Order: sequence, then structure tokens, then C-alpha cells
Amino acid sequence: ARSGASDAARAAATGPGPLADLLDAGLEVPVLGGGLVRHVNLDVAASAPALAAVAAHVARVLPYSASVHRGTGYPSQACTALLEDARIVVARHVGARLDDHVVFTRNTTDALNLLAGAVPGETVVLDVEHHANLLPWERRGRRVVVAGRTFAETLGDLDAELARRPAALLSVTGASNLTGEVVPLADLAALAHGHGARLAVDAAQLLPHRRVDLAASGIDYLAFSGHKAYAPYGAGALVGRGDWLDAAPAYLAGGGAVDAVSIAATTWKAGPERHEAGTPNLVGATALARALVEFERLGEAARRDHERALTARLLGGLAEVPGVRVLRGFDDLDDRLGIATIELEQGSVGLVAAALAAEHGISVRAGRFCAHPFFDRIAGRANGLRASLGAGSSADDVDRFLEALAELVADGP
Ligand code: PLP
Repeated sequence: ARSGASDAARAAATGPGPLADLLDAGLEVPVLGGGLVRHVNLDVAASAPALAAVAAHVARVLPYSASVHRGTGYPSQACTALLEDARIVVARHVGARLDDHVVFTRNTTDALNLLAGAVPGETVVLDVEHHANLLPWERRGRRVVVAGRTFAETLGDLDAELARRPAALLSVTGASNLTGEVVPLADLAALAHGHGARLAVDAAQLLPHRRVDLAASGIDYLAFSGHKAYAPYGAGALVGRGDWLDAAPAYLAGGGAVDAVSIAATTWKAGPERHEAGTPNLVGATALARALVEFERLGEAARRDHERALTARLLGGLAEVPGVRVLRGFDDLDDRLGIATIELEQGSVGLVAAALAAEHGISVRAGRFCAHPFFDRIAGRANGLRASLGAGSSADDVDRFLEALAELVADGP
């Protein structure tokens, strides 16, 4: 049975990804010395190319462009219905409760800034956060807990911090953009609730790879972006408890967020519209919902198993390249997304990343990945190089990267 399971994993890793209808499938890019090679996208964690099904949806929506929530004409009513349907799809996909709101935002950063304007007290975060979940709370009373070497230890530290002084919110990343480590969200929700706080999850990385269920895991707020979930840029969502959102000042002031306006007084709406003033990004929001429908059609297991098998191949291969160290945050977290950030004993990761692109047609990212405090704590060097996989990645992508990396590292600085 064991070898059967690993055969299945191997087949999953070598075949085309479950999201093989990515728009960039078969994309060719120029390399130094002339010629074109098949592009290897190992920067999926930054932005994922749209699905063909999502692009087809966008093409179908665009001819209807008309005012949402306002006009009486057929296209206008169709656009309103499309946006409201998208809200329902998002709510269903993430297991929202009846009293949750789905607010469409520009991206995760926008969603967390919106929530920061609604939180009625201090927010506790870990130092492992992306800047999007570190900086918005600064102006509103932020407390940062430095994570331990294990997540079990970190839970203890969070427990002590919340016992020391109450906080309104605990806000954590569901999966690190630096290490890909997936954190146990139900444990964090139970911990926060035990101290009378709520839990917000930055699911920018997690949601495109794992099913998240607010009601089942006790998450109070979830923030995510369309462009990391195989949909276009410019749309994201904040989903969560309506009471704080209804009590908060409108995130954007303007038309659509109000019931009545006179020069003397404004009556603000309750519900998601309170925070969505102005003409909404209909294309972005409905494309995001369309991508989620595609995730549901494929099921989580196919995407997860494919990525796990490829991640094992990637990590196994990296362990064989001399002078390469893969960064880890927590020694006791086994579940990780297809993200590996490495540092080199010698040489510049910036130059290696540039050579991977210019000579081999392979996209990765070099730097500190908008998570400077976390990077600086766990890395020994100034910069790292991140390879990130998605449901469209293949074993050939991983092998081309490993071969090119080994060659560039062996060539020296
Ligand atoms: N949180 C995490 C964990 C991320 O990886 C990112 C993007 O890299 C963000 C938040 C910010 O996402 P966006 O730029 O879409 O707002």
C-alpha cells in the first residue's frame, strides 16, 4: 500500500498540474544567446497566472460593463447580480457564517488595512508576518510576539501575551510567504477566543492552496487576494464578523456607502457596502469568485497532493546542492506549501536569480520578501532566493530549476 501511495504521488508530480489550463501554459521567453525556451514559473507565490476559465469569464463579463448597484438597464442589473453572486460564492467557499460580511477590496493589504480601521482595541501579531499583516496595526496599538523555534512554544508565548494584557485581535498568517509553513488555525482561534480576542488570518498564500473554513476552524476574519489565486490583479476580499465592520467608520467615504446625505448629516450603510464606496471592481471580484469555483470543481486533494509531491522533489533536490540552506521558521510544522527560500553560503542570490531568468528562462524572486523581521531573524545572509510552486507546476519545472541552480552555484560568485 505504501509503494502504491508513493507511485500515485510520483504520478501526480510528473504529470501536468491539476490547473493545467493556466493562461501561461506553454509561454516561451527569450534567453541570452538567442532563442526562446519554455518559461518556468517558480514565482507563483508572488502572483499566479490566471486560469483560462477565469480569462474566459472576464471576456464574457466585459461587454456588459455598466454601473453596478445603480442603473435600471439590463446590463446594469446583470452587473449587480454578478457582483452579488460573487459575494455568495466567496462566502460559501470560505465557510462564512450568516452574520459575516464579504467586503470586496483591492487585495490582502487593503483588506487588512480595512480591518485595522475596525478593530476596537489592540492587535497581537507574530514577527513572522508579511508587512501587510505587520504595518496596518501599527497606528492602532500593535504588539509583536517574537515566534519561538517551534509552533508549540509560540502558542505558549501568545497565550502569555494575551494573558498579560487583553487584546481585541490576534492576526496571523495562515501560511508564510517565506517558508510556506502552514500554521494550525483552529488552535490559534481557540487560543484567541479563550482570551476574549478574535482571530484574523492573512490567507494571501494559504487560500490558493488549501481550503479554509471560517465556521469550522473558528476564524473570525479572513483576508486574501485574487492575483495569488489564479485570478487578475486588483481584487481581494475581507470576510468576517459583521458587528465590528458595521460599527467602524467607512473605509472609503463616497457614493454607494451611504443611505442618505445632506449637507448637515450623512447616514452610512451597514453591510459590506459601507466599506465599498465608489464603482466596484466587478471584473476582479467576479473573476476571483470564478477561480474559487474552479478550485471547488478540482477539489483540494488533487491540488494539495500534486504540490506536496513536487515540494518533496524540490526540497530533496535542494538538499543535494552544496552551499545551499533552506530556511525554516518552525521545527514542528510539517505541512508546507510549495515554497522554498534558500540562502547561499557564497555568492549573491540576486545574481543567481538574474542568471536563472536571463540564461534559463526561470522566474524566481530574490530579496527579503516583504517579511523583513522574519527574514532577518531566521536567515544568516542579507537576502534569500525563493522558488514557489503552484498547481500548474510540473516535475520538469523543478528539475530545470535544480539543474540550473547547481550549475550557477558551482560556477561560483
Ligand atoms: N500576506 C502574504 C502572506 C503575502 O504573501 C502577500 C503577498 O505577497 C500579502 C500578504 C500581500 O498581498 P497583496 O500584495 O495582494 O496585498
